[in-house]
Amino acid sequence: MAGVTPPRPPSVHRVLAEPALASAAAVHGHDATVDAIRLEIGRVRQSAETASTSVIADRVAARLAAWDRPSLVGVINATGIVLHTNLGRAPLAESAARAAYAAGRAYSNLEIDLTTGRRSSRQLTVRGRLQRLLGAESAVVVNNCAAATVLALRALAAGREVIVSRGQLVEIGGSYRIPEILAVSGAVLREVGTTNITRPADYERAITPSTAVLLRVHASNYRVRGFAKTPGIAELAALGRKHSLAVIDDIGSGAVVDPARFGFAGEPLAAASLKAGADLVLFSGDKLLGGPQAGIAAGREELVRRLERDPLMRALRPDKMTLAALDETLRLSATPERATVSIPTLTMLAVPFAVLRQRAEALAEALSRLPGVTAVARRSRGYAGGGTLPDQPVRTAVVAVRHESIREGELARRLRTGTPAVLVRVRRGEVVIDVRTVFVEQDAAVVGAIRAAVEPGERGT
Ligand SMILES: *Cc1c(COP(=O)(O)O)cnc(C)c1O
Repeated sequence: MAGVTPPRPPSVHRVLAEPALASAAAVHGHDATVDAIRLEIGRVRQSAETASTSVIADRVAARLAAWDRPSLVGVINATGIVLHTNLGRAPLAESAARAAYAAGRAYSNLEIDLTTGRRSSRQLTVRGRLQRLLGAESAVVVNNCAAATVLALRALAAGREVIVSRGQLVEIGGSYRIPEILAVSGAVLREVGTTNITRPADYERAITPSTAVLLRVHASNYRVRGFAKTPGIAELAALGRKHSLAVIDDIGSGAVVDPARFGFAGEPLAAASLKAGADLVLFSGDKLLGGPQAGIAAGREELVRRLERDPLMRALRPDKMTLAALDETLRLSATPERATVSIPTLTMLAVPFAVLRQRAEALAEALSRLPGVTAVARRSRGYAGGGTLPDQPVRTAVVAVRHESIREGELARRLRTGTPAVLVRVRRGEVVIDVRTVFVEQDAAVVGAIRAAVEPGERGT
């Protein structure tokens, strides 16, 4: 650097006067426009490049346009993972999304009883449905299942002990780890049993006057096989009754329509858990229920009331759009047939393999016509995802795509950064498109995206 005088970039004022930025201040605001100009000038100064004022103005315009674009954009999920947490988990039913839109767009009776004119609770929007669907005395909705767990443990066990089997001290992904959730709730963890075997007697021996809750946690995303056993909810409920302790069942995935209908056995059902004697069952709105992100705590009225009275409730209460979408999802869930055709999560789990194979074959044929592309349809395995059904691979149909000169990693990158973005699986030598999670109406867009990705020529980065 020493001895070299970099060219002086133009002033903010001069860039602002460029024709390319004529309407920028009116559209994007004066401050944002000046910020963008300063950033661009700074970059030019730092790299010591020579850029004309008009080139800088063009870059500023591009930067402003980028700032103006929505950050959250729709993507095509070709990973085959139905509940993909990074892609937003459950896509809503059309009518549920419309309900959220309507609630967001106007005033509503969120917290007012229209007959009496009195103030009411927003929880009433969904409580009746949850009572009928789950056979629950009452229910309360918060922002997610993690929030439901923290709230329940805090309201029912802060400063007291919660007994959990060592086999259920799970991490569900991200930062949901049972010991840490217990710690933030202010309850004291009392672990019993072993990783693989915990007996009712283990719980019973650990019960002291400071015990408040027996907690069962569904090992959502993994399974212990072989010599393994923990008490079921009915056994825990019997113990709870005997010692006057609340039994909480954190089932996570929260299927209301039984996935066994589609060949997926073994997921806990909220209604079954309550029927077996759980005092409170906790589950997510955006896993197998297929609704918006939410956490539902359903069960005994007296316990639900304690959750609602906790000061933390105010911090965890759901938004009106969430409640509207949840209400509609629950309405659809009342009959399994209607739920299966209208709730995408269920539709995708239920779709017959033959239908997927046919789509994969059609896609492979269309893709094979692209220059340099080989595409074959084949059968494969997918997973439900979202911490559900970890040991139940779903028979699915995929299209394996190769290009003569573009490597699979690069092809996947181009698809991910294109518009619309397409998220795929990458296997040795090929990009794999799982049609299960691609909406039928997106098949043409997938072909278009691959065409754009393999086309020589200009491409944005
Ligand atoms: C997924 C899961 C949670 C967390 O649910 P969120 O709605 O993502 O907060 C809690 N408990 C169990 C057992 C789960 O599977």
